[in-house]
Amino acid sequence: MLKLDFHPAGRHFLQIPGPSPVPDRILRAMSYPTIDHRGPEFGALGLQVLAGIKKIFKTEQPVVIYPASGTGAWEAALTNTLSPGDHVLMYETGHFATLWKKMAEALGLKPEFLGLPGIEGWRRGVQADLIEARLREDSGHAIKAVCVVHNETSTGVTSNIAAVRKAIDAAGHPALLLVDTISGLASADYRHDEWGVDVTVSGSQKGLMLPPGISFNAVSKKALEASKSAKLPKAFWGWHEIIEMNATGYWPYTPNTNLLYGLAEALDMILGEGLDNTFARHQRLAAACRKAVTAWGLEITCLDPAVYSPVLTGVMMPDGIDADAVRKLIYDNFDMSLGTGLGKLKGRMFRIGHLGEANDLTLMATLAGCEMGLKLAGVLLAGSGVQAAMDVLAAQKQKPELKAA
Ligand SMILES: *Cc1c(COP(=O)(O)O)cnc(C)c1O
Repeated sequence: MLKLDFHPAGRHFLQIPGPSPVPDRILRAMSYPTIDHRGPEFGALGLQVLAGIKKIFKTEQPVVIYPASGTGAWEAALTNTLSPGDHVLMYETGHFATLWKKMAEALGLKPEFLGLPGIEGWRRGVQADLIEARLREDSGHAIKAVCVVHNETSTGVTSNIAAVRKAIDAAGHPALLLVDTISGLASADYRHDEWGVDVTVSGSQKGLMLPPGISFNAVSKKALEASKSAKLPKAFWGWHEIIEMNATGYWPYTPNTNLLYGLAEALDMILGEGLDNTFARHQRLAAACRKAVTAWGLEITCLDPAVYSPVLTGVMMPDGIDADAVRKLIYDNFDMSLGTGLGKLKGRMFRIGHLGEANDLTLMATLAGCEMGLKLAGVLLAGSGVQAAMDVLAAQKQKPELKAA
C-alpha cells in the first residue's frame, strides 16, 4: 500500500521542469466518473479538446492526441513521416535532443547530429546557420527531416524555431521540420503554422499542468502528404485513422478519458488567462529567478541571453560541489524537488522549474529553499538571491497611493 505519510506538513514543492504541479481545478476535473468513450458525451468532449488544443499550438491543422508520454509522440513524429534508412539532421541542444537521436537510430533512421562541440553546444541552443550550411551541402536532398528541440529541458535554453525555418528556406531545401516542444508548449511562445513547422511534438505534464500520460503531434499538410509514402512500421501511432475518427470527437481505441477532462480544464485556464499573459508571466518569473542566481554569484547554464528559457533555469555549481548532493539536502530539509543535471551536465548543475501554475510566491518559496539549501551545502554565496528576486517582482507592481488617515 502507498505510504500516506510520504510528504510532511503542507504541500511538497515540485519544482522540477515537468511534471509540473497539477492545479486543484484540474485534479477535480479529472475526478469526474469515467464515461463510455463511444457515447455522446464523449464525442462532445473530444471535439472540445481537439478544437481547444489547436489554439495552444497556434495551428489550423490537425493535432493528434495520444494516450502516451512525450516519448511516444516523438516516435509518432518519426514513424509517420520517414522511411527506413532515411537521413535526418538532428541538432544537439542537450539531453533530450540526444534521446530523440537515439530513438531515430533505434527506428532504423540515419541521424546526423549537428552542434557545437562539448558542453558549449548544450549551453547555447540551436545555431540556425549551421543547419543552413549543412543543408546547402546536401544538393541531392538526401536529408528528409530536420529535428530540433524548442525548449531543451536539460539546460534551460529555448531555441529560435523561426530562425530554423528561415535557414531551411534559405537553403532551398525540402526537408520536413520536426520540433519537440514537449516542455515549451503553453509556457513559451510557440507558433506551429506561422513558423512552418511540419510536426510539433508535445506532452501533457509540463506547461499544460496535467499529469503525465497524454502527448501530441500537430501535423502540417506537408507532413500529412509525406505520411502517405512513409515506410517506417507504425500501427498504434498511425495518424490517418485517428484523424479520421477525430472528425466526430472519437478515437480508434480507448482514449485517456479522465486526462481529457483535465485537458479541457487546462485549456479553459490557459485560454482564460490568455496565452500572451501566460507567456509574460513565465518570462517575468524566469527573469526574477535568473536575478537570484546571479545574485548568489552562480552561473546560469544558458550562456546566451537571447535564448534564456521562460520554463526553467539551470544553475551551475562551483567546482567541487556535487549538484545532486545539494538537491538531496534541499529535498530532505525543505521537501522540495529540483531537477537533476542530465547527461553531460550530471552533477554539475540543478534545474529550477517555474512553469505551469507558478506565481510570484511559489517562485519566492522555491528560491528561499534553494538559498537555504545552498548555504547548508557550504556553497559560498555572493549575496541574497531571494532579496534580488523580490526586488525584481516588487518593482513590477503598482504602488498604490497610501494616504494617512
Ligand atoms: C519531458 C521531455 C521529453 C520526454 O517526455 P516524456 O513524457 O518523459 O516521455 C522529451 N523532450 C523534452 C524536451 C522534454 O522536456
